[in-house]
Amino acid sequence: MVTQPIRGTRDLLGEEYDKFSFLYQTALNVIPLYGYKGIETPIIEYTSLFERGLGEATDIVGKEMYTFPDRSNRSLTLRPEGTASVARAIINAGLTQTMPQKLFYIGPMFRYENPQKGRYRQFYQLGVESVGVSNPIADIESIALAAHFLNVCGITDYQLQLNTLGDVESRQAYRQALVDYFTQYKNDLSVESKTRLGKNPLRILDSKSPKDQELCANVPKFENFLNNASKAFFDAVQEGLVSLGIPFNLDQKLVRGLDYYCHTTFEFNTQYLGTQNAILGGGRYDGLFQQLGTNSLPAIGWATGLDRLMLLLPELNKPKKLKIALIVDEEWLQPFALKLMQQLRLNNIFCEMPLNDNISKRLKEAYKAECQVLIFVRKEEYCEKNVKIRYLDNMNLFSSAKEKEKTVAISEIVPYLSSLS
Ligand code: AMP
Repeated sequence: MVTQPIRGTRDLLGEEYDKFSFLYQTALNVIPLYGYKGIETPIIEYTSLFERGLGEATDIVGKEMYTFPDRSNRSLTLRPEGTASVARAIINAGLTQTMPQKLFYIGPMFRYENPQKGRYRQFYQLGVESVGVSNPIADIESIALAAHFLNVCGITDYQLQLNTLGDVESRQAYRQALVDYFTQYKNDLSVESKTRLGKNPLRILDSKSPKDQELCANVPKFENFLNNASKAFFDAVQEGLVSLGIPFNLDQKLVRGLDYYCHTTFEFNTQYLGTQNAILGGGRYDGLFQQLGTNSLPAIGWATGLDRLMLLLPELNKPKKLKIALIVDEEWLQPFALKLMQQLRLNNIFCEMPLNDNISKRLKEAYKAECQVLIFVRKEEYCEKNVKIRYLDNMNLFSSAKEKEKTVAISEIVPYLSSLS
């Protein structure tokens, strides 16, 4: 039996699971403040959704998708990202007539990449999509939400990189300028960038190859090709961020991998994760809905990799919660203890009953579970309708708990322990 998970996938347990659920919970607390509602879409979709949505020239569609025929020979794909699915769901639910729509999702994505620290084949993304607003206010709000979410998670040591891809007219002019520029050095380009030159020359700016990067140093500047409308849009976004006190750097190499982006693109980077330094990325994608065959709709969104955020999270400061262990010394008392536990749990009190072979092992189990209170269920007290309580710590957790042990009437135990928690 193979017990290892598939390469690039992993089990989340213990501290990792706690960090994952902390991020999840924080997202549920923060994101609705901005008017977003949750959405769950299926993990498998028709392959054509991503081919049309993301574009055939992207790395994701070209070489990273988990694509397979189902038993009826339909081509299906494990979703590599969330935006195309959310757009499909909006169209399918007829919501394109009720704009704007603000949706967020959290879930696993799949990409056949080379696994390393911070890069997995199954990874978890939290994403937000705001559809139907072409005003740059939507871009500012989306970025402000990203910064807000990261800050509430305790992740504050990041840099926000910002760029614009302009509107279609500006992009076409720039695209031509790039083709003219790189064609002069065609023989020096990496194999991948030679292909990009024909299909998507903007992506050459994104190249990791040192030779390509050298050539990119003197590339024409996009700002010289932006028309007035695109310039005004980008100025408004920058002014909005300045007025909200959100610092950013301009980075014209930030073109992002997907074909449907326009105007604002942004990425939050960290210096603590080596080459996997991108923790959150997004931008405006006014072209997507039309690409999926419906009317044109403006949209802006971002996605963040929860796996990477987990690596950056400071030690979780778990709130101290009252934990109780019932130490039962004779088997005939267990049904009573079980009932008592049910009452405590119904009152939101953590409790468990160690069931090891002997009392000293049961006590050890209670210490290990970091219980602060033991309830001894023993014949002598039980016959008097009482139980004995012992406090294991006195870390100012319970102001009323001055003495180390106390006898409490069974009828009083739930209100008494509720008053401690
Ligand atoms: P993207 O959908 O490529 O724009 O990525 C958005 C965010 O998802 C990135 O900033 C990363 O934090 C995260 N991410 C993307 N690919 C991976 C991966 N293979 N493993 C872990 N996180 C990833």
